[in-house]
Amino acid sequence: TIYNFGSINLDHLYQLDHFVRPGETMASDSYQCLLGGKGANQSVALAKAGAQVKHVGAVNSLDHAILSELKDYGVNVELVEYIDTPTGHAIIQLTKAAENSIILYSGANHCLEKSRIDVILNGAEKGDWVLLQNETNLVDYIVIEAHKKGLKVAFNPAPMDVELTKSVLPYIALLIVNEVEAMDLAGVDSIDAAEKALPEQYPDLAVLMTLGSDGVRYFDGDDNLYVSAFKVEAKDTTAAGDTFIGFTMSAILSGANIQDAMKRGCAASAICVTRIGAMIAIPDSKEVDDFLST
Ligand code: ADP
Repeated sequence: TIYNFGSINLDHLYQLDHFVRPGETMASDSYQCLLGGKGANQSVALAKAGAQVKHVGAVNSLDHAILSELKDYGVNVELVEYIDTPTGHAIIQLTKAAENSIILYSGANHCLEKSRIDVILNGAEKGDWVLLQNETNLVDYIVIEAHKKGLKVAFNPAPMDVELTKSVLPYIALLIVNEVEAMDLAGVDSIDAAEKALPEQYPDLAVLMTLGSDGVRYFDGDDNLYVSAFKVEAKDTTAAGDTFIGFTMSAILSGANIQDAMKRGCAASAICVTRIGAMIAIPDSKEVDDFLST
């Protein structure tokens, strides 16, 4: 089982000619409300990849549809709590020039409580994994407590908080970062420099570093591996990283070696980028099998 302590967001998307200006009221005739958040996306990717995933988080008591949707994707939502705080959400203005401007409200995603975390971690078994992103509160507490209990922790520090991330690195079994997060963490300003600096700065840390259309690198002090991305026509790279994490972690959980797991993650995320949207762009296991066999 993998316990994903992660965000659940509702993304409210409005299409507009231009961003709303100070004092202006503008009508939008195009509105979509989509389920998202890195946490929820990664849980869905894990479930579609075939992993037993328990999502841990919270939504507002009125938002029952969210949990049914996650359940339909195969995510176990027994550990998602209904609370009075509004569900985490984003108000997104999208212009015709494909620019966006976003208001993000963490809401229920920042309402995790230590006592509940303790109960959940006590219920986990040896060999279970804990996964986190950086869109909930108490990230450091969860990482350290999970590590104390002998659970393996995978951390995707997005959005990056360098200080927080450095403070939990000793307790992490696998760090998953994209190029920008890797550069921020290493304190350098090029991808090449980050690829060099991270293993030097943290010789014992296992790191998966995704490189967009260049693929993914892995290093852990002993091994240094690389898998190239699949050549596809990318239409929308939203959720590429979340898809990669879900499929790679699922493969690791089922005993695949890291190289094979990375390849599966690359295949799944290659399919994801050929489709528009986030959660709806995540493929299932069979699609990935078919993709890999052609
Ligand atoms: P994030 O979405 O977190 O920024 P990346 O952009 O690094 O993450 O993408 C994660 C993975 O998705 C990459 O390692 C790669 O395998 C795949 N991917 C991303 N963009 C493309 C692309 N244009 N073509 C093929 N694969 C891609």
